[in-house]
Amino acid sequence: MSDSSTETVEWPEYVPPALRRGATPQEWADPRWQLRHCFCTAQQLEQVLRLTDEEREALSAAGGRLSVRVTPHFLSLMQPEDPLDPLRLQVIPRRGELHAYPEEMPDPCGEDADMKAPGLVHRYPDRVLLLVTDRCSSYCRYCTRSRLVSGGRTRLFDEEACLDYLRRHTEVRDVLVSGGDPLLLPDARLEALLARLRAIPHIELLRVGTRVPIMLPMRITPALGAMLRRYAPLFISVHCNHPRELCPQTQQALELLADHGLPLGCQSVLLRGVNDDPQTMLRLCHRLLQCRVRPYYLYQCDPVPGTRHFRTDIRCGLDIIRHLRGFTSGYAIPQYVVDAPGGGGKVPLNPDYILDHTPTHITLRNYAGHTYSYPLPSPEP
Ligand SMILES: *Cc1c(COP(=O)(O)O)cnc(C)c1O
Repeated sequence: MSDSSTETVEWPEYVPPALRRGATPQEWADPRWQLRHCFCTAQQLEQVLRLTDEEREALSAAGGRLSVRVTPHFLSLMQPEDPLDPLRLQVIPRRGELHAYPEEMPDPCGEDADMKAPGLVHRYPDRVLLLVTDRCSSYCRYCTRSRLVSGGRTRLFDEEACLDYLRRHTEVRDVLVSGGDPLLLPDARLEALLARLRAIPHIELLRVGTRVPIMLPMRITPALGAMLRRYAPLFISVHCNHPRELCPQTQQALELLADHGLPLGCQSVLLRGVNDDPQTMLRLCHRLLQCRVRPYYLYQCDPVPGTRHFRTDIRCGLDIIRHLRGFTSGYAIPQYVVDAPGGGGKVPLNPDYILDHTPTHITLRNYAGHTYSYPLPSPEP
């Protein structure tokens, strides 16, 4: 290690002085400093953004359903004067959040009904979702689990009960570790959990769902990459919605994970004003591939209370997929899904490329709008 008294570390150019909050560049690059200096109140945010009336109103509304919290890193990526900045819309509350509509539900995917142990959702035949923490580095305003996160609720996750369930259910071969954000757990705590999961013989695949590489890229260290590598096969699903989230620091974090042999996928949420047009989604998917992340799912926004201003029509998502398929690399195209209310799980939504279906042929439309006929096999002689 070089002597810090002689080392001159420059401030990264992208960090405006108002965001530094007295830190040294070394402190800025420390995830603990970032978490201790998150922006949570109107007063703090006012120092770095020009807040609009509707943001101020939402920030001051007492007892909001979801706490406000944004890392200094994520704030540094915003255009401070632009109230419609697509990154800002995701984490700064607006007036629309204060109104719930009759079609909205606190638990839109019906997870609570499938909770077989505290923190374990078993819905599909061979895989489960583990909610291991209720904390996140920043709170997304459209969070599908806002009923669980940030509430200071006691005991979301009962590790012993979950492990006991998993040991008894030999049909489970895939465990998705999510939350909250599991990468907020200290390395040793996360490793202890992964080791206990790996010790269960029928569990083949581990997955971690996280937004930390986007919100807190400094948390992604070589030590963390090496630790996760020991529990391979372990896939990582990052949550990213806009190409500007993939800054150089985040790219470096993602490449570090890829270099440790951890396959990376991305889950994005279709959000009005953020990514609800084909050009933005195309740029996002291309940037993800540059960062060695394969777009995995594009989610229709769940009908969580106070998210009407984020939700789009289904046609919007189908239109995006129609503009991607055939026009760019197949690897760049996520599967568009809606998580069916009432616990139906993820249902794929696809543009229709079959124009007609007869006993002898199907009539197909290709990506460019041309029509083709595919002959079905003749009856056996
Ligand atoms: C999304 C989800 C999974 C994983 O689904 P995949 O389609 O395999 O990625 C598992 N359990 C629950 C409850 C889920 O919501």
